[in-house]
Amino acid sequence: AHLDRIAAVDGAVHAFLHVSAHEALATAADVDARRAAGEDLHALAGVPIAVKDVVVTKGLPTTAGSKILEGWVPPYDATLVERIKAAGLPILGKTNMDEFAMGSSTEHSAYGNTHNPWDLDRIPGGSGGGSAAAVAAFEAPLAIGTDTGGSIRQPGAVTGTVGVKPTYGSVSRYGLIAMASSLDQAGPVTRTVLDSALLHELIGGHDPLDSTSIPEPLPPLVEAARQGATGDLTGVRVGVIRELQGEGYQPGVLARFHESLDLLRAAGAEIVEVSCPHFEYALGAYYLIMPSEASSNLAKFDGMRFGLRVVPEDNPTAERVMAATRGQGFGDEVKRRIILGTYALSAGYYDAYYGSAQKVRTLIQRDFDAAFAQADVLVSPTAPTTAFKLGEKLDDPLAMYLNDVATIPANLAGVPGLSLPNGLDDGLPVGFQVLAPAKADDRLYRVGAALE
Ligand code: GLN
Repeated sequence: AHLDRIAAVDGAVHAFLHVSAHEALATAADVDARRAAGEDLHALAGVPIAVKDVVVTKGLPTTAGSKILEGWVPPYDATLVERIKAAGLPILGKTNMDEFAMGSSTEHSAYGNTHNPWDLDRIPGGSGGGSAAAVAAFEAPLAIGTDTGGSIRQPGAVTGTVGVKPTYGSVSRYGLIAMASSLDQAGPVTRTVLDSALLHELIGGHDPLDSTSIPEPLPPLVEAARQGATGDLTGVRVGVIRELQGEGYQPGVLARFHESLDLLRAAGAEIVEVSCPHFEYALGAYYLIMPSEASSNLAKFDGMRFGLRVVPEDNPTAERVMAATRGQGFGDEVKRRIILGTYALSAGYYDAYYGSAQKVRTLIQRDFDAAFAQADVLVSPTAPTTAFKLGEKLDDPLAMYLNDVATIPANLAGVPGLSLPNGLDDGLPVGFQVLAPAKADDRLYRVGAALE
């Protein structure tokens, strides 16, 4: 049914870069046979899933939305893909994204835009617009995204889906094509909070192949979602972040946010206001740390090892092959960030830019520590506006970067965040963000399910 739905609507939505119909049907048949034989299967066995194209999948093309990886077929699976396969979830295909996960609208994909199913003239968010649009358009009931600065949560907000960025280290990064290794985290994109909890428990937990993987087990996420679904939040302290509302936020987004605060109050939660004074520097710090790490991570795309190789006719030395391949293979936004990152890391500027940004990162972590001393969870709108029109911000990188003002602090601090649908403004979805302390992802699910 989902493959039929993809065939019917993906021409208009363009959520998928590759549909793996044959493999998905084979997995579904295998699960049916195992179920018929009385095998005890995972709760999600047989439920199809779409995977963002930045996650490597053995035998399925993986491009990260870039021309430089066109035609590359990975020889191995990411750990999270191994876990998905072992549990018997048919993989429907790979979803569109901004090139190397750099963007907030999926317009930086080298393979064309994805359209927001709510209004095809609008962006589906980014970088994981394909995963969010696939779930919103009923092409897939579940999807995997990755979130370095908001790429799961902001697409979730503007497509009316649930998206979770787990605690840093809670889901293995082995097999994710790295953008900024200290910020990247994979997580679920779904239609309900409980579905996210089920998927998060499946893909999460320790992995010896990721050196930053947290050794202890995940807190009980499904149980927390079930508890939250009773609608009782008595005794839960909810901190409203003073700095993440007001100027720059669309009035309808703020109106929906305050309505949800009333719902939380009605569920028995205690609402307090907290201040995170350094959040105003988060975007600035992110746009130094992320390009610095990306410039280093993307050095491996050299025309020798993966995908595209461009050989100039004249004097094709290794260095000239590398320059020609990178010149043709990377898009403008990727080049912009590589240049910014190499500049910020260069001798003489390192302390002034990268060093200062790292200090700001520590201050943001301390803001979170102080806020979580006063509240069990923190809340804000996920994104300052609803989905904007395709093309509207494409020529203005700074306007594009501002979409992530409310999501980036969590990545800088490594804490988990969830975005869930928060009604509509002028017919377009609004997102509500819940943040919790590191390793307390269960709180996201309790509060999220209570609001749903
Ligand atoms: N939109 C942000 C950026 O462009 C975040 C991207 C992401 O989380 N992958 O960097």
